[in-house]
Amino acid sequence: QVTDTLPREGPSSPSYDWFQTESSVTIVIYTKQKNINLDSVIVDLQDDSLRAEVVIKDQSYLIHIELSHEVQENISVRVIENVGKVDIVLQKRENIPWKCLGQPLEKHDSFIPKKDTGLYYRKCQLISKEYVTHDTRLFCLMLPPSTHLQVPVGHHVYLMLSVTGAEIVKPYTPVSESLLSDFKEPVLPPNKYIYFLIKIYPDGLFTPELDRLQIGDFVSVSSPEGNFKLSKLQEVEDLFLLAAGTGFTPMVNILKYSLTSVSSLRKVKLMFFNKTEDDIIWRCQLEKLAFKDKRFDIEFVLSTPSSEWNGKRGHVSPALLSEFLERSLENSRVFLCICGPTPFTDEGIRLLHDLNFSTDEIHGFTA
Ligand code: FAD
Ligand code: NAD
Repeated sequence: QVTDTLPREGPSSPSYDWFQTESSVTIVIYTKQKNINLDSVIVDLQDDSLRAEVVIKDQSYLIHIELSHEVQENISVRVIENVGKVDIVLQKRENIPWKCLGQPLEKHDSFIPKKDTGLYYRKCQLISKEYVTHDTRLFCLMLPPSTHLQVPVGHHVYLMLSVTGAEIVKPYTPVSESLLSDFKEPVLPPNKYIYFLIKIYPDGLFTPELDRLQIGDFVSVSSPEGNFKLSKLQEVEDLFLLAAGTGFTPMVNILKYSLTSVSSLRKVKLMFFNKTEDDIIWRCQLEKLAFKDKRFDIEFVLSTPSSEWNGKRGHVSPALLSEFLERSLENSRVFLCICGPTPFTDEGIRLLHDLNFSTDEIHGFTA
């Protein structure tokens, strides 16, 4: 007979409590973890139902309650990192005492693998759409005031649209509004705007529908997902980014984060592969950033350049990579990120291994 005597693995389950003042209700989550930050907490209030998710490693702790009384739509979230405590502050609509917080809903007070929580969507409003290249646009969406959501660096969300009764869902990687603005650490109140660089494929399933939206229309945005670990950038001295086409999108926040928050950093180099000059996203901003910050270098490579192009040409290759991947110091601590069409990423990772970079030194963004 097999008996279950092994200790339970992974972090111990969080718990919660609540208290009130005349005008507010505070839900306190004790995560029993120290590495919690504002990226780890996702809160949504829809009508009177409150859903709060705290992501702890690969697990999610859920609070899911039909509140007993109405609250205002502005919520605030605080994280006390050194004790792993999360406060969610709700403002009462009426200043009356609550006898109970509310009724539990599905999966309330559960601590389950993150993959089992299902993707949760909230409706976001299209605020602006800007032409970046002939086929790529910068979309700005506004989160509802009753949502707290921050997408960790290197992670993505799913966008969902309803088209003639069918729901279409595709993943997209949020970027900052520009490369040249200062990188904002998670701050209070949480950012209400979320930006995307999205290429429109005229014969695609999703992007033409997205492109047809009018300012003020709504798109559903999921909670973040991804396996990129920011800790990989800690103590890095040479960071090499290989991007092809819209594979540039995860590099935006990685680049900004590393230039502002990785003190060991000596050099960041981006090799950006595109078909033609017209396809290069944010070329002018990249060139300005390289001029402004001497640690950053940019190299453009075109696969179908015009005859006037004097720069590098071709597809990802051993010759291009070995010249590009020059360390600032022999034996410097190095990290590489690669993203683009699947054949590009697969071939790039293969070539990086041939050049003796280890799996631990490479992050490939794959579907
Ligand atoms: P699709 O219908 O998928 O078609 C795209 C193109 O492929 C079209 O030209 C179509 O004709 C062609 N095609 C479709 N099916 C086939 C087939 N069977 N054989 C040959 N050709 C075919 N994109 C961005 O622009 N920005 C981002 O930030 C971004 N982030 C991403 C993050 C992740 C994690 C992943 C996996 C992808 C990301 N993408 C991003 C890509 C995005 O998810 C979509 O794949 C893209 O927008 C195309 O969607 P679509 O439905 O419009 O086109
Ligand atoms: P594109 O067709 O404009 O190609 C850009 C460059 O990619 C080309 O110039 C070439 O250098 C290279 N390339 C294309 N096909 C190649 C091949 N078969 N072998 C080697 N190199 C090749 O690219 P696009 O339309 O902007 O597509 C970007 C891709 O990046 C999409 O497939 C998208 O799904 C992917 N993407 C993935 C993520 C992620 O996180 N996983 C994020 C953003 C984009």
